[in-house]
Amino acid sequence: MSTYPAFDTMPIGTRWRAGSAGKTRASTDPYTGDTLTEIAQADEDDLNEAYRSAVDAQRDWADAPPGERAGVLRAAADVMTDRKDEIVDWLVRETGGTLAKAELEWSLVRSVMWEAAGMPHHVAGRIIPSDIPGKESRVYREPVGVVAVISPWNFPMQLSNRSVAPALAVGNAVVLKPAGDTPVTGGLLLARIFEEAGLPDGLLSVVVGSGSDIGDAIVTHPTPRVVSFTGSTPVGKGIAEKAGLKKLALELGGNGPFVVLDDADLELAVQAGVFGSFFHQGQICMIANRIIADAAIYDEFLDRFVAKVKTLTVGDPRDPDVQLGPIINSSQVESIQDKLQRARDDGAEVVLGGDPFGPTGQCLPPHVLTGTNDVATAREEVFGPVMTVIRADGEEDALRIANDTEYGLSSAVFSRDVERAVRFGRRIEAGMTHINDAPVNDDANTAFGGEKDSGIGRFGGQWAIDEFTTDHWVSVQHAPRTYAI
Ligand code: NAD
Repeated sequence: MSTYPAFDTMPIGTRWRAGSAGKTRASTDPYTGDTLTEIAQADEDDLNEAYRSAVDAQRDWADAPPGERAGVLRAAADVMTDRKDEIVDWLVRETGGTLAKAELEWSLVRSVMWEAAGMPHHVAGRIIPSDIPGKESRVYREPVGVVAVISPWNFPMQLSNRSVAPALAVGNAVVLKPAGDTPVTGGLLLARIFEEAGLPDGLLSVVVGSGSDIGDAIVTHPTPRVVSFTGSTPVGKGIAEKAGLKKLALELGGNGPFVVLDDADLELAVQAGVFGSFFHQGQICMIANRIIADAAIYDEFLDRFVAKVKTLTVGDPRDPDVQLGPIINSSQVESIQDKLQRARDDGAEVVLGGDPFGPTGQCLPPHVLTGTNDVATAREEVFGPVMTVIRADGEEDALRIANDTEYGLSSAVFSRDVERAVRFGRRIEAGMTHINDAPVNDDANTAFGGEKDSGIGRFGGQWAIDEFTTDHWVSVQHAPRTYAI
């Protein structure tokens, strides 16, 4: 099996070709700075062609037997297996993630494909009783038609595929815009995999272009019925304003609280806290952004946490001994450093830190700060290897601090008393809470999503079927009806 051809074109409608914007953008390796590919960017004409083809191809696809659609999803999962090395290599090189992160992302993508392969047979309507004599009231569950997917750069393949695979499985066509930093792993590689799996032409277009050039057009175009956006809260709010009456699935930013109660197993909490703070350099929406530790165990927890963080190695993500690779780009490094400076100005103490280094200057050592919930790194989503540890004065204070944020994505609670932790967790204003585990969790069959400014809607299993289908009430009047007018 040969590797895929160079990723310098994109599938628009029924063929792979260069975009028409008249400018190119390179995808670069965040660790080495090497250019991986250069892609002529798409413009609005390309987008229009992608949407036209999507409409043309979708009806037949929706009418295809569910087993045929399931077969394509199963075949795509098989391609994932066959091409694991090639895919993991691209994920490491384009996202700067470590081998462990790339392997996890690869396995998440395959799991979602397996899950989606079951969806065509689980889309079900209902027959509803009617008070009108002789009426049969049916509610059909139909694909929405065309879905627009916009995804970020941190887990690009997973965050594109968790919309693309279910949307296709239940009979939709998709137009996908990956992030500018990750055009291959966020879109082009996925498109090659579905193509190899036998997905009919025109059902999946990938438009590679900047959010500022084609972002508005993707969202405001009259064709897509659902806009599935994963990314930052400010951009998500802008999309919500522009989308008009389209259905929105918005998976946005987070500011995850990681709560250590006074009876927690501190060893467990330290292990999970280090993973939950620094996996993929902290560039995960579900990451713990703040550790809130009860005053009774605060000092001991902090000592043990810092000791463990000191053992982490930062550097080349290809090295299996490295736990933290580079930050995705230099502007993200600057943004993290700006938040660190503002946190210091706000009175935070830096317990552990260091300057960026490496060939591109994008390797940032893990930082541990102490402070209140009001310092910049606790108030804002950092999206980098920075943890602020906050002292709480008992359980109610810990809950108040946990909920004192506009976000509500993931969270974690540590206690030896599981039901106490569950009671506490249910009072956290969030879409997801994990007891005695890190907040970074993603299962293909369960409800993934956020509350408050972290988004609208849920991914996974039945929730994904619901997002990408809609109800059509069709009533049949079997007996003549008496109309009173
Ligand atoms: P971003 O919002 O800058 O970009 C996300 C995508 O939106 C990219 O494809 C970008 O090109 C596009 N975009 C930018 N401007 C646009 C516009 N005006 N119209 C349409 N599209 C536009 O986010 P990012 O920096 O790529 O990713 C980091 C953010 O994503 C963090 O806030 C993180 O928490 C969030 N995120 C959320 C989840 C989740 O599941 N909730 C998962 C991963 C990342």
